[in-house]
Amino acid sequence: MTKPFAIAIHGGAGTILRDQMTQTLKQEIVAALTQSVQAGAKILEAGGDALDAAVAAVKVMEDSAHFNAGKGSVLTHEEMVEMDASVMHGAAMDAGAVAGIRHIRNPIELARDVMRNSDHVLLIGEGAEKFAFERQYEYTEQDYFFTERRYDQLLSMKEKGLFALSESKYPDDKKYGTVGAVALDSHGNLAAATSTGGVTNKKYGRVGDTAIIGAGTFAENGNVAVSTTGMGEYFIRKTVAGDVAARMRYLKEDVHTACETVIQGELKTMGGEGGLIAVDAQGDVHFAMNSSGMYRASVDSRGELTVKIYADE
Ligand code: ASP
Repeated sequence: MTKPFAIAIHGGAGTILRDQMTQTLKQEIVAALTQSVQAGAKILEAGGDALDAAVAAVKVMEDSAHFNAGKGSVLTHEEMVEMDASVMHGAAMDAGAVAGIRHIRNPIELARDVMRNSDHVLLIGEGAEKFAFERQYEYTEQDYFFTERRYDQLLSMKEKGLFALSESKYPDDKKYGTVGAVALDSHGNLAAATSTGGVTNKKYGRVGDTAIIGAGTFAENGNVAVSTTGMGEYFIRKTVAGDVAARMRYLKEDVHTACETVIQGELKTMGGEGGLIAVDAQGDVHFAMNSSGMYRASVDSRGELTVKIYADE
C-alpha cells in the first residue's frame, strides 16, 4: 500500500472581502496558489522529501508579486525590503531561519541552507547574506523586489503613522501576505516552511514570527507541521506553531481541535489576527483563521486539489 502524502499552503490571512475582490485578481491568485501547491505535490508524488516539497511551493509564491514574500514584499520605513524565512524538518527536528534579508531572491532556500549547511539555526542581516554569497547565491538588487503597490501602501501607512496592515487601496490590502507550506511525505516526514517581507513601515530591524521556530514554523514527525500568518508580535508571544504541536503531543488533541483552540482562543482575544495551516502524521490537513479569509490550497494523496480564499468556504 502506498503511504499517504499531503501538502497545504497559505498566501496570507486577513480581511479579504468578496465585494472588494475583482475577478481578474481572484483568477491570478487562484492560478498562483495552484501552481505553488502543485510544485510541492509533484515532489511528494515522486517520493521526494517533505521539506523539499514545502520549499518548492513557497518559492513559487516568493516569485509572484501577489504575496508579501520575495518579489512583492512590503517596504520598511526606509523604503527597503527586509525578508524573514524559516524551515523545519520533523525527522530530527532540524531547523533553519534567516531574518532581515535584503539581497537574496528566495530567502526560503537560504533558510534551508542554514539548516543543512551551517551549525546554527538563525542567521540575520549581513551575516546571513555573507553565508549566502559564500554558497554562490546571486546578489539581487532591491529593485527586483520593489512594486508600486507596496510603495503606495508604505506612503499611506507613513501618513497615518502606523505599521502592519494598510488602508485598503487594493482589494486584498488588509491582509497579511506571508506565504507558507506544510507537507507530509511518503516516508512519514513532516516539514514546514514560511517566508515573508514582514509588515509595512517596520523600523529598527523589526523581525516577526516568520523567522522564529515555534512561532511561525514548526514540524515534528509523528505529530504535526505548522506554518502561520498574522501579526507577528502576537504570534511570537503565543508561540503559535509550537503550541499547536504541544496540544497534540501532550493533550492528544486532533489537528483540527488543536489549531482551532489556538487560533480562536487567547490569541484572538489579545488581538492577534491571522491564521495557520497544519498537516498531521496521517496527512489530515487543517486550515484555521480568525480573519475573514486566508489564501490557501492543498493536495491530498489522491491528488485532489482544493483552493480557497474566504473563511466561510
Ligand atoms: N507574520 C508576518 C510578520 O509578522 C506577517 C504576515 O503574516 O504577513 O512578519
